[in-house]
Amino acid sequence: MSARLGKTVWLKMEALQPCGSFKLRGVGHACLTHAERGARHFVSSSGGNAGVAVAYCGRMLHIPVTVVVPETTSARALELLRLEGAEVIVHGQSWAEANTLAQSMLDAHTAFIHPFDDPLLWHGHASLVDEVAEAGIKPDAVVLSVGGGGLLCGVAEGMHRQGWDDVPIIAAETHGMASYARSLEADAVVALPAVTGIATSLGAKQPSSEAVAWSRRLPISSVEVSDREAVTAALQLLTDHRVLVEPACGAALAAVEKNSEELAAAKDILIVVCGGVVATLAQLQDWERTLA
Ligand SMILES: *Cc1c(COP(=O)(O)O)cnc(C)c1O
Repeated sequence: MSARLGKTVWLKMEALQPCGSFKLRGVGHACLTHAERGARHFVSSSGGNAGVAVAYCGRMLHIPVTVVVPETTSARALELLRLEGAEVIVHGQSWAEANTLAQSMLDAHTAFIHPFDDPLLWHGHASLVDEVAEAGIKPDAVVLSVGGGGLLCGVAEGMHRQGWDDVPIIAAETHGMASYARSLEADAVVALPAVTGIATSLGAKQPSSEAVAWSRRLPISSVEVSDREAVTAALQLLTDHRVLVEPACGAALAAVEKNSEELAAAKDILIVVCGGVVATLAQLQDWERTLA
């Protein structure tokens, strides 16, 4: 990718985590912390990478996991959750209904693991920046995808701790999921009436308030890409580096591929290749054909 783009591009390969995304960092830290505090059961309402990470962590810690997901959840996501050994409850038409049932299961020994809005998660995610710094690298821009903003909060925490307050963060979203872009424009948390498109891991209707608060402390700007650009960039990563990722991750790659204005001056770019296990190669190729 560096050779093709004529820049130094560092890829932080979160796609290679055992459960396929960066979520393991934050979810792992949250699950361990809750286990130390006596949790004997973990509950999640994510039918995506966060749910898969909770299921994986429960399996590793020998703690049972229940994931409540809506009827719209793909067969592939259900399969992944079950392969990780989670109890999967399919309930309700929307995430809100599934989440209400999940919340009703909580008690003194049951911990709810949030997909993006929890300081424990951010603290875990921040470790990825420490690893980059320990490798002796300080990029002149960091590019990452934003859904609810958990990854952003963690990376911002890590960058701040490393004294990288001068390094711009480029927050990538697809057009239909751009709640963070709208929030940056308003300098306040903005909720989208609906989210649209294929990058489902970016599908939070609104970012966390902490993600918006970081934009007042660090130089953060937004880049929006189309679904098509995200898919093309994901397939390009597969060609260049033989790693399969979701369109949600393709959004960050696409921001660099299209050499967006925000990145024109950057010569040394770190991309958080956040990964994702829910999309398959056949599905990426299908989207490439059908998205105009
Ligand atoms: C969770 C996830 C995101 C979005 O992360 P947030 O912390 O919600 O901003 C992006 N890409 C992938 C692959 C994810 O799993």
